[in-house]
Amino acid sequence: MTVPTSTHCPYCALQCGMSLAPSQEGPASVEVSGRDFPTSRGGLCRKGWTAAELLRHPERVTEPLVRDEGGTLRTASWDEALGRIAAAVRRVQAAHGPDAVGIFGGGGLTNEKAYLLGKFARVALGTSRIDYNGRFCMSSAAAAGNRAFGIDRGLPFPLTDLDDADTVLLLGSNVAETMPPFVQHLEAARAAGGLVVVDPRRSATAQLTDDGAGSHLAPAPHTDLILLLGLAHVVVNDSLLDSRYLAERTRGLEAVILSVAPWWPERVQGATGVPADLIRATARRLAESARTGSCYILTGRGVEQHADGTDTVTAAINLALLLGLPGSARGGYGTLTGQGNGQGGREHGQKADQLPGYRKITDPAARVHLAGVWGVPEASIPGPGLPAVELLRTLGTDDGVRALLVHGANVVVSAPDASMVREGLRRLDFLAVCDFFLSETAREADVVLPVLQWAEEEGTMTNLEGRVLRRRRAVEPPPGARSELWILNRLAALLDAPSSFPTDPESVFEELRAASSGGLADYSGISYPMLDAGEEAYWPYPHGSRGTPRLFREGFAHDDGRARLVAVRASAPSWTSTPEEFQLATGRLLEHYQSGAQTRRVAALTDAQPEPRLQIHPASAARLRIEDSGWVRVTRPGSDVPEVLCRAELSTGIRPDTVFLPFHFPGLSAANQVTEARTDPISGMPEFKTTRVLVRAAAGE
Ligand code: SF4
Repeated sequence: MTVPTSTHCPYCALQCGMSLAPSQEGPASVEVSGRDFPTSRGGLCRKGWTAAELLRHPERVTEPLVRDEGGTLRTASWDEALGRIAAAVRRVQAAHGPDAVGIFGGGGLTNEKAYLLGKFARVALGTSRIDYNGRFCMSSAAAAGNRAFGIDRGLPFPLTDLDDADTVLLLGSNVAETMPPFVQHLEAARAAGGLVVVDPRRSATAQLTDDGAGSHLAPAPHTDLILLLGLAHVVVNDSLLDSRYLAERTRGLEAVILSVAPWWPERVQGATGVPADLIRATARRLAESARTGSCYILTGRGVEQHADGTDTVTAAINLALLLGLPGSARGGYGTLTGQGNGQGGREHGQKADQLPGYRKITDPAARVHLAGVWGVPEASIPGPGLPAVELLRTLGTDDGVRALLVHGANVVVSAPDASMVREGLRRLDFLAVCDFFLSETAREADVVLPVLQWAEEEGTMTNLEGRVLRRRRAVEPPPGARSELWILNRLAALLDAPSSFPTDPESVFEELRAASSGGLADYSGISYPMLDAGEEAYWPYPHGSRGTPRLFREGFAHDDGRARLVAVRASAPSWTSTPEEFQLATGRLLEHYQSGAQTRRVAALTDAQPEPRLQIHPASAARLRIEDSGWVRVTRPGSDVPEVLCRAELSTGIRPDTVFLPFHFPGLSAANQVTEARTDPISGMPEFKTTRVLVRAAAGE
């Protein structure tokens, strides 16, 4: 009997444990089941259950494609496809310099691929222009974490620590839809009446607070920062601070006390719509739990995907610090990473400003260390590049990126201001895309390279807890597909790159260990045999240590060991809704993942959610003569970006001044056609949660 392969789901950062058994349908198929693993405890959501359908999908790209002179993509040999890429890189760099070639990576790539891609950019291409779609995911939380703690790890504690929590404040995260097995870790808080969900919508997660399980706070669009300042105001005003913790473990208290003074509960109620009594009760509940029980504050994309996302997350961290939570045994603060390897993806060099090991690319010691590992002169390693939206804005411009290589991202659907992105791609001298489906971005490419999927490859992922996991091969890949490691190796050879580019995942991981050694995200003590033996490996895991399941117990990562409270300011929102004008928030559905390039191809998922629907309150809909399932047009006033055309879904679970549209779909109904490429100046996070839009009925569609 063949033993099932033990691996993890290919999608989100919960990385649920998964077993893949040989299927009776043939050697290329597998049967999926959940397996015991601490984050999921045997659970999978319907995306996980149906993931195997992607492996032998009829739309899978299984041979390289190149665009012919007539503009059609045709099949080609690997030699021809790779030769075209190498020739384009040489041509563009000779004419415009090294930074004219860019790389756009993905948060779903394994650690090994993310590492080798960063090395390829800096060593083989000599370009600074590399960034990835994790910039859209949790870059603001990363920036806030670094500012406060000196390090950024999604959850600085094992997820199972939540199992003892009597209070959880969950801000802007709809885990009941995005990662359902997570909900079991909220049961203790619900049983204690202490689940507090902050969301403008009565989401599936907000509904978990019903029947005495907790409370739902529904602030007006883009007032979550004010709400957090109001909660901190009550903590300060009612003397609920953990004074000893603050004195011994933090700096910056006085400035934060001053910054929250203007936000007393009645004023916050006026700005947010959340009742002052509920604000007081929530703050007092958090403080009581922090003092006598176990209390956690968690953020997700809802409060992070703002043009002031770093400050909003900072306000959440300040609240946690005022209560004495981070690094204590009584709770903590964490952010819930979204993409499967969003955490590892940013630790190993895909970010424009970082080298492997979560090192700053401007740090002279980090550059010398990496130069030694790579065997290249330190001066040859480029400096910081541009964050994702800035990079995309330069596509095809005179002094911008003229040739782009995309790995594991579908920017035409997932990036803000999608038509700007598509126009930029069409202005390029050359575009190559590695993917296993002809995504909307791959359709624009000059060369498409077919790559392996999760069940066809070995590697590691790092989940939302900073826990390093093994991904294992269970089936043979299609004969024409190749690993990205192999592709980077061949391209590096064609470009006469210095240094080596191994094709074997374990060899890449061994190099990654050396590259990360001594950095914040130190993997030097982790090995494949250790992971295969079942070791729980949380970074930092320096050689000779036992890893770090819980960060900050001994101190924070700043030089003096203290966390930083950082005063942030908010202004009362000036926007008021008009009968036709709303604030648009984009978000996710249970059935779909990211740009939907994978999940839109799974029959069971598209049968359940075949199209996006604009969620709108019935009172707003009645005013605009919009019927349930009727067609609507959504436009961004004052812009000439294409409008969105989709059906409406009437729901009393959304505020009358807000509409919601999932972003997983392309074409006329693509939400990101109307979102703006407005970004947080600190992190580069785009504003996905508050776009002013006009909504009207689209008669006769
Ligand atoms: Fe688990 Fe996320 Fe996969 Fe669903 S998508 S099975 S929650 S890892």
